[in-house]
Amino acid sequence: MNKLVEIKNLVKHFPVKKGLFKKTVGLVKAVDDISLDIYEGETLGLVGESGCGKSTLGRVLVRLIDSTSGDIIFNNKNLNSFSNKQLRQQRKFFQIIFQDPNSSLDPRATIGKSIEEALVIHGVKNRIERQNRVRDMLDLVGISPNAYDRFPHEFSGGQRQRIGIARALILKPKLVVCDEPVSALDVSVQAQVLNLLNDLKEELSLTLLFISHNLSVVENVSDRIAIMYLGHIVELLESSKFAANCKHPYSKALLSAIPIPDPNLKKKRIILKGDVPSPINPPSGCVFRTRCPNPTHDCKEGNIEMGLIEVSPGHWVDQCCMNCG
Ligand code: ADP
Ligand code: MG
Repeated sequence: MNKLVEIKNLVKHFPVKKGLFKKTVGLVKAVDDISLDIYEGETLGLVGESGCGKSTLGRVLVRLIDSTSGDIIFNNKNLNSFSNKQLRQQRKFFQIIFQDPNSSLDPRATIGKSIEEALVIHGVKNRIERQNRVRDMLDLVGISPNAYDRFPHEFSGGQRQRIGIARALILKPKLVVCDEPVSALDVSVQAQVLNLLNDLKEELSLTLLFISHNLSVVENVSDRIAIMYLGHIVELLESSKFAANCKHPYSKALLSAIPIPDPNLKKKRIILKGDVPSPINPPSGCVFRTRCPNPTHDCKEGNIEMGLIEVSPGHWVDQCCMNCG
């Protein structure tokens, strides 16, 4: 399969500033040395607890924020080598769908204008053509094209998320980062929006990075699953093999938290001790060692460096924890 995006040693640290002179007193290590490939046409699921850096990774990928270091290679071109003008042109290929459709749409603009805005910015000069494209896109996401002149508050949460999706897709992007796109929706409409995303992915040949804190949602929609913990990817494998083969103790704990709809089946819930450490002062060596159920001596001392190794074709696990699960 073709690689659409190659992420190489990507780092994003946010400075923590204090005092009158805003001196930097620490760093939030939100994304800490991540390397990952995203294949053309796949849905890659990204799962991890709140605060582990998923949104930051997504935002760096669509270039809403700049990385601290590392490379993003898109279609064999390194984005770091682009001028600002070239980057602006490339921007349309990367889009993001946010969790909260209420705050991502301008309440004072009609939904038609909100969606059309991107076409204006990217130089589609003919107004009729723009409006026709918006109407076609509305139709595609299941909103009446006649709703062009209506305002966001006239729609339900699920419909607003459809409008958010229309806005992300109007420029025919290649990669769409879906950042918890259904987490704010009623359970009854979550499945509809997920199905819509799946259909659009086929129809428009999209590649999706699907972010969620909920492993069961991601398992259903993804081709591969990446598990993230405190700024690191700790496991990566095909989602059909995830339940039977995952090795990392964190993946196993997430898996054990998914309820099974059969009262006669007993499942052992793995509860990790302690809380997620702060990304400002993450543990040295392996960041998972403070919560690992079976840490070795070297692990506890922080002597083992992190890094993914391939344990079977396409299955990558962090080298420190591959035998702790
Ligand atoms: P997730 O999406 O997995 O919940 P985030 O990527 O939103 O995690 O956040 C990761 C860490 O980075 C958190 O500790 C968060 O507080 C911090 N963070 C995110 N954005 C910023 C920012 N703009 N400035 C400072 N810290 C940030
Ligand atoms: Mg987030």
